[in-house]
Amino acid sequence: NKIRLGIIYGGKSSEHEVSLRTALSIMKAVDFDKYDILPIYVTLDGNWVKGENLRGILPEGTNELRLTNGAVSVSSEVKMEQVAVSRTSPIFGVAQEVDVIFPVVHGPNGEDGTIQGLLELANLPYVGAGVMASAVGMDKWMMKNVFAQAGLPQVKYVGVLRSQWERDQEGIIARIEQELGYPCFVKPANMGSSVGISKAKDRQQLIDAMMLAAKFDRRLIVEQFVKARELEIGLLGNEEPITSVVGEIVPAKEFYDYEAKYKGAGTELQIPARIPSHVAERIAEMAKIAYCALDASGLSRADFFWDEENDQLYINEVNTMPGFTPFSMYPLLFQEAGISYSELIDRLVQLALERHADKQ
Ligand code: ADP
Ligand code: MG
Ligand code: MG
Repeated sequence: NKIRLGIIYGGKSSEHEVSLRTALSIMKAVDFDKYDILPIYVTLDGNWVKGENLRGILPEGTNELRLTNGAVSVSSEVKMEQVAVSRTSPIFGVAQEVDVIFPVVHGPNGEDGTIQGLLELANLPYVGAGVMASAVGMDKWMMKNVFAQAGLPQVKYVGVLRSQWERDQEGIIARIEQELGYPCFVKPANMGSSVGISKAKDRQQLIDAMMLAAKFDRRLIVEQFVKARELEIGLLGNEEPITSVVGEIVPAKEFYDYEAKYKGAGTELQIPARIPSHVAERIAEMAKIAYCALDASGLSRADFFWDEENDQLYINEVNTMPGFTPFSMYPLLFQEAGISYSELIDRLVQLALERHADKQ
């Protein structure tokens, strides 16, 4: 019996393109003796479009999902039909056609619990974190609250509402200068892929950075800058996750920004990271605490800063839908741990089914 796997990708998100790449990689990697694939594409303006079932290998040379008239084709052969223009219940049209959904939609409107909520309402099993973990994992401010409660070390930060900033710019600047100092990092709370993030080295840059971040979200985070190595670990499982090896991001640029992440502008992934074993052990421990504190499931990548000089570790974030192409950190970390890309997909599907059964 084949598993009918629906893949939701694209989305109303600045990480739309990344999602297309991930979806294509998954469609190429799965074993078609085990799966029937139903591609479900969410356009940039939020329309849902589904393709015909894919039952075979994608044609050679298909390495990009091409956008045509707002619909996407995963191969030239797959025609897309409009299933629903409704923005609230598009999934119900396919609920009978699939056994499990892999939502590979990053960022707001995808990784943030909204799609997960829709899938809960449709009573469909799905890969990855549930509504709460997705929502908390997407909101850096809320995530920091949860990590603080769990006793995990974090860099100093200040949370600011956009409305507060607009009302009292001077007061907020004073507070940031006093509590954090320069340089600092300004981030929209609900984003990913470094979108809207900048480093501020003085007051003018702070103002610019706040204005930029405020374009993306009404919740903003300002953090103290730490000079540290960036270490990441993968987690796989539901209530008792396993961890991968630790990897390191070695950015050529000043920080790991969007360009560096997706255009490969000189960034290197060092897998496994060249770090002392006590650091790797501590990272695995902290990552599991963070995962459980969020009540994550399926998969996550936990990201850390390691201040080598003072041997101090800070947790930066947990990404509940990490980059998932075969060249992304998460799959590479597990490959190093002996789990291939297609096996990872198999395990994630099983974890989704187990979690769904557990809820009933
Ligand atoms: P995203 O969710 O978009 O990946 P991050 O919080 O991970 O956002 O920030 C993106 C990148 O910015 C990090 O990978 C790191 O290179 C840099 N960065 C973020 N916060 C800090 C900080 N407090 N100190 C130093 N570098 C930082
Ligand atoms: Mg993130
Ligand atoms: Mg990050």
